[in-house]
Amino acid sequence: MQPRDLSSHAEYVPGEGIEEVARELGMDPADLTKLASNENPFGPPADAVEALRDHADRISAYPTSAHSDLTAAIAAHWDLDDEQVWLSPGADGAIDLLHRATIEPDQEILVPEPGFAYYPMSARYHHGEVQTYPVAKERDFQVTPDVVLDAYDGERVVYLTSPHNPTGATVPLDDVEAIADRTNEETLIVVDEAYGEFADVESARSLLDERDDVAILRTFSKAYGLAGLRLGYALVPDDWADAYARVNTPFAVSELACRAGLAAMDDEAHVERSVETVEWAREYMANEIDAPTWPSGGNFLLVEVGDAGAVAEALKREGVIVRDCTSFGLRECIRITCGTEDQTREAVETVNEVLAARGDGGAAGDAEAEAATDR
Ligand SMILES: *Cc1c(COP(=O)(O)O)cnc(C)c1O
Repeated sequence: MQPRDLSSHAEYVPGEGIEEVARELGMDPADLTKLASNENPFGPPADAVEALRDHADRISAYPTSAHSDLTAAIAAHWDLDDEQVWLSPGADGAIDLLHRATIEPDQEILVPEPGFAYYPMSARYHHGEVQTYPVAKERDFQVTPDVVLDAYDGERVVYLTSPHNPTGATVPLDDVEAIADRTNEETLIVVDEAYGEFADVESARSLLDERDDVAILRTFSKAYGLAGLRLGYALVPDDWADAYARVNTPFAVSELACRAGLAAMDDEAHVERSVETVEWAREYMANEIDAPTWPSGGNFLLVEVGDAGAVAEALKREGVIVRDCTSFGLRECIRITCGTEDQTREAVETVNEVLAARGDGGAAGDAEAEAATDR
């Protein structure tokens, strides 16, 4: 026998890791800087690591109190009821939970294109269909109410990614509200704020006081530096209270993830330092890179480099791993995660060298870059 027809299901293509690249190119991992997956360059908060050690001997028990402690802490942070916080393995897990709670077979979701690959993947797992609205370079990737509503046709769930990955563009709160106002009552607007800590737009949290058709995604993977633990959550309308218990995988978030999350929330200095460095790095990269960039509210910058695949490959050979955005449909762009100050300066220097070696791009530029980097 075979699994069901999965031909419409795409695979998730993660950014390359240091170990794989080192093995592939026969390099020392210590000579590589990974700026490809929007991770926190300062690592996890020290208190979170200590919490993991402190609770390591409790992992023979199911995580009941850890789960409710973290839920309560997050609810207090956002001034919401505990029932409105849906803990999940990464924000990706929260996307699954929202789909389980909303999508009937063959119902549709509306997502940005290009955009975060997991929205459509998860919808298809849940027997849903996918429609898209354009995030167009000609409009500097701006997502306005008109862009979304022109494409909207009664879909069950509409995704707004703010800041958007990989473009960095944000959606102002007024626009989120305008979109929610002009879509059907049975349409859920999901505002993905995975990079919310880095942006200077207001969270959609305030809309939860007035409406029952908006949910928010947040994660511990980016600003909090806990990507490897897989910890995120959704904030949902208050009358959805009992749905979590009906759609959640039992104990979906581990004891250790909960304990580290609690410690990370207490370490405000770590988040502040991470955000300040990102603000500096975004500006530094935008000013210093010899190529067009777009304003970003995230911990990364989109850069137009010509042949993204070739440039990413050349950068890798020079020790800097970035995200080739070809898999997002942006063949001419790379996405560079904000590093520490040293990493960011090094990345900018390397990018400029590679771009200079390629000249104006095109076939001649490709050959030159290959020759330059194959040495
Ligand atoms: C990173 C990211 C997420 C969530 O990542 P998790 O590690 O699953 O929490 C969600 N949305 C976007 C746009 C992201 O870039």
